[in-house]
Amino acid sequence: MSTACYIQRPSKTKIVATVGPACQAHERLLALIRAGVDVFRINTAHGKPADFQARFDSIRKAGAEVGVPIAILVDLAGPKMRLGELVGGELELHVGEKVRFVRGNVSTSPTDLTTTYAPLIDELRVGDRVMLADGTVMLTVEEKTPDAAVCRVVQGGTLRSRQGVNLPGVKLSVPTLGEHDKANARWATTAGADFISLSFVRSANDVRELKALLDEMGSTAQVVAKIEKPEAVAELDAVVEAADAVMVARGDLGVEIDIAEVPMVQKRIIRACRQHRKPVIVATQMLDSMQHSRLPTRAETADVANAILDGADACMLSGETAIGQYPVESVEMMGRIALATEALMRDRREPEEMVARATSGADPTAHRAVTHTEAGKMPATRTGEAARSDGESFARDVDAITDAMAHCAGHLAEIIDARLMVVFTHSGATARCLSQGRHFVPTIGVSDSEVTLRRMCLYWGVMPLAGARKDSPEELLKSVRSEMQRAGCPLTAGDKVVLIGRSGGDDGRHNMVMVQEVE
Ligand code: PEP
Repeated sequence: MSTACYIQRPSKTKIVATVGPACQAHERLLALIRAGVDVFRINTAHGKPADFQARFDSIRKAGAEVGVPIAILVDLAGPKMRLGELVGGELELHVGEKVRFVRGNVSTSPTDLTTTYAPLIDELRVGDRVMLADGTVMLTVEEKTPDAAVCRVVQGGTLRSRQGVNLPGVKLSVPTLGEHDKANARWATTAGADFISLSFVRSANDVRELKALLDEMGSTAQVVAKIEKPEAVAELDAVVEAADAVMVARGDLGVEIDIAEVPMVQKRIIRACRQHRKPVIVATQMLDSMQHSRLPTRAETADVANAILDGADACMLSGETAIGQYPVESVEMMGRIALATEALMRDRREPEEMVARATSGADPTAHRAVTHTEAGKMPATRTGEAARSDGESFARDVDAITDAMAHCAGHLAEIIDARLMVVFTHSGATARCLSQGRHFVPTIGVSDSEVTLRRMCLYWGVMPLAGARKDSPEELLKSVRSEMQRAGCPLTAGDKVVLIGRSGGDDGRHNMVMVQEVE
């Protein structure tokens, strides 16, 4: 993608693509970026540090060649428990049969199972459920002996060596951030990762622990909390508040909780993220059939569209890009669905949603009474908190003035049918607030920090742009104008541009909205 296409990038929803054997070659990475990838995920659950570094370097090289900011998310595996080697590599289980979990890592009988989690036998209780093979096989613990947990097969299927093991509702003693993940987090920090995600988060403390480690390392990486455990869903607000961004990790979530509840839990998580102004990624099986097919199923297209309507900032591809036959086609398809959905999303917005969004930065999909809110009247705000029209407060890490300014600016830009919004942002916080308002005016996030430019790759509707001058609003507009010209989409006389900036001190707050009409 040239700078030209990038500025004209059609879809506002961001695309996260997992790197793997199907796409790590240089030409493939270039093609994926040109097709619309904003963030690449390196999954540390598979491979060795040398592989991760090679992938990391290839992504940076491809991003530089295309000339656009591309973010890298390093995904820490968390305390993922796996089966050991099965005798013969595979085991067919039928309802009613018995198998045993035994200590150690070598099983001698075909119906004896071992795992990578040493304290398993001690921590399982009679009656606990054990889910295997992505939730397709279910066992219940019937009996405990000093060295084994005897289980009955409740739902049969095929097991393979090293498949994941989930224990919904079982309290595990293992820390969320183990030594292996800490080592990978240190590597990610040294490599310069933009986002580091933590799997199987159970509490806000897990997120804070990773943040403390990154602080110690002097890292600027942002922490993404993967919500896939019922404990994290139960502590949702605290986890979202502690994290910089969130991932709805539906793969393990659909094993840890009843799979039938996943769609509604997804909506709850997204809503919490919108209230806290945190970007949220919806992940796993979004276009799963495209691993082997040029076209997705109708249900998959509806899944991507509904995630966007729910308020997702980004949608993620996993196997589709990592090991699938059609990685580029998958990214293009996701972009097409996003584009079609966003067009209708804008058209179907109700006037009262505009009011709610302008006054509270609210989620347009949230079903909340707004009739008591007067149009144009900002609710009282307290420093460090953004007030909502129903009186509750959220987004404690966002400056209240900046948040209100961003939402007013977005509203203003829509009313005057502006061609463009431009925000100069140091940390990305103002761009994040603008993004959360879900305004449909094209928005450019300008920064002189590469870290911030890449951070904005996850922000819905914000196009990061390097190199624009920001000495004064006039200078900023002039340089954005010449970038647009260079990109082949020039501003023309009469175009209105909304600029969000700062007057006075350099306290990081944005307190000025300006409209310029191009002469
Ligand atoms: C998931 O479980 O949905 C997920 C994104 O995590 P992973 O790909 O690491 O299993």
